[in-house]
Amino acid sequence: MSMPLNSNSPQIADRILQLRSQLPPEVELVAVSKFHPLEAVKDAYSAGQRLFGESRVLELAEKAAQMPPDCIWHFIGHVQTNKLRRLLPAVNMIESVDSERLLRLISAEALRINRPVKVLLQVHVAAEETKTGFSPLELLECARACKDLPAVQICGVMGMASNTDNLDRINADFEAIAEVGRKLREIIPRATELSMGMSGDWPQAVAHGATLVRIGTDIFGLRN
Ligand SMILES: *Cc1c(COP(=O)(O)O)cnc(C)c1O
Repeated sequence: MSMPLNSNSPQIADRILQLRSQLPPEVELVAVSKFHPLEAVKDAYSAGQRLFGESRVLELAEKAAQMPPDCIWHFIGHVQTNKLRRLLPAVNMIESVDSERLLRLISAEALRINRPVKVLLQVHVAAEETKTGFSPLELLECARACKDLPAVQICGVMGMASNTDNLDRINADFEAIAEVGRKLREIIPRATELSMGMSGDWPQAVAHGATLVRIGTDIFGLRN
């Protein structure tokens, strides 16, 4: 299947090419297409983007079904366990695993459908209570308990910095996330991924060792 190259929204392709040129080559760009229409995803695809992030299960499953099979889909939102059956056949990585119970349910379902899935453990270091994730200690306990679960591969850590203009706080948050990543690798050496950095703070995240940045607004514009 080939996608149309005459894009309706050349800005999307331009913004992706510009971001790519600013990111170090070893850092992967997750284009966060949540709340944006399929047309926007196609525009990004026409600029060579293959890795997309979504935060709602049905939206991810519907977009994945309509895009070419070489797209890679990361789930970055809150996982409702009653939607795992819909999510697992469509997703390549779940970045937002925030409890051991959820990780065990993911493993069981991935085993049942014989489709292994990659996961990141989400750590909470930001100032806002609203943000989800393990505490650093809980995350490492979960990794110890779950490192040999079948059909899930723990690949690293995902986190968010505080929503603030204070660069010192943002840098401290990314350093704290990177530190959890280092400790995780003492338990699971191949868990080298560090997903951190969004539209407002990705340069700081890259400076602290991000391997994946999740960027929505800077590519697709404001969400409704
Ligand atoms: C929406 C979202 C993003 C993208 O945020 P932007 O500020 O639009 O770049 C990144 N990570 C997570 C977990 C999100 O929910």
